Amino acid sequence: MSPHAMVYDVVVVGGGPAGLTAGIYARTRSLSTLILEAQAMGGQLAWLYPTKSVYDYPSYIAIEGGELAELFTMHTRESGAEMASGEVVDLKRDGQLFHVITREGKTYETRAIILAMGMGLFEPKRLDIPGEAELEGNGVTYQVKDRHEFRGKRVLIVGGGDSALEYALEIVASAKEVTLVHRRGEFRAMEKNVEAVTKAPIRVVFNAELTSIEGNGRVEQAVVYDNRTLKKTVFDIDSVLINIGFEPKITPLPKWGIALEGERLIRVNADMSTSVRGIYACGDIVSYPGKDKRIVTACGEAVTAVMSVYKYLKSPYWA
Ligand code: NAP
Repeated sequence: MSPHAMVYDVVVVGGGPAGLTAGIYARTRSLSTLILEAQAMGGQLAWLYPTKSVYDYPSYIAIEGGELAELFTMHTRESGAEMASGEVVDLKRDGQLFHVITREGKTYETRAIILAMGMGLFEPKRLDIPGEAELEGNGVTYQVKDRHEFRGKRVLIVGGGDSALEYALEIVASAKEVTLVHRRGEFRAMEKNVEAVTKAPIRVVFNAELTSIEGNGRVEQAVVYDNRTLKKTVFDIDSVLINIGFEPKITPLPKWGIALEGERLIRVNADMSTSVRGIYACGDIVSYPGKDKRIVTACGEAVTAVMSVYKYLKSPYWA
């Protein structure tokens, strides 16, 4: 790092409601602030609940997660906090500063840190069937990044939750055909999505399990069994989209030397300080007696964390 590199007053790790609120309040004290987010600004609101309504954020009787995430992000941008994408994999102390290191290979220097990573990162669950890993990226996928990728394709979607149904609805207009296979006889998704799938030109196959994916370098066929009759059906297809839920990624927290509660929660004091000087935390990632995981409490904790950072920066322990 060059001696002229920017040194932030505070780097906030995580851009959900807690991290973004920390950004807004840090700017009210004119602290130079950077917020790093690995997935989507707005956190869980943006990528887990974009079209689900939030009913417990005061002054909004009901607001969709995606819209609330956007408003949070706009407010934070207006405040003058910088925002960047990056998955933080390491924190290192360097004298009076910290180095915040991302998976993307960037290092940021800062005087204080606020950890606001919420529930942490998740990755899609795998079916672990023959052909799945071999053909990943060549027709096997877990996400719709751009629905136009499915234009003119015959797509088989696996899953019965909101992700599977919403993806089916998203691509049905451009795909050549969409088949949705689900292991049970009914969906677990929201009624609104179930109703829309029923009305759309989507072939639904219940009690069906995908057992192997075949193809020469690219997906060509999917083998599906009816789990009541054991009848086998082979579908000629171009893509398999698997949406059977998410599981948490391995967390880097335990190697950062901060007192934890279990593997994934950070113990904080009433001022949101952690066991490491200069590192504070707020939101779903913190643990303290009486902790309640709400957007509003996360925001409140963020304000407390910022005020503690401010005091810490004005009277550092080495002064
Ligand atoms: P999910 O709700 O956990 O659904 C996973 C689906 O995959 C279930 O239908 C499950 O079947 C099936 N499944 C699991 N393991 C399987 C296996 N080994 N083989 C075959 N099928 C398997 O996951 P999700 O759809 O990704 O949603 C995750 C959360 O995000 C949910 O709370 C959901 O409501 C939410 N979400 C919300 C929105 C929105 O608000 N618009 C959008 C997307 C997701 P069973 O039903 O038989 O268990």
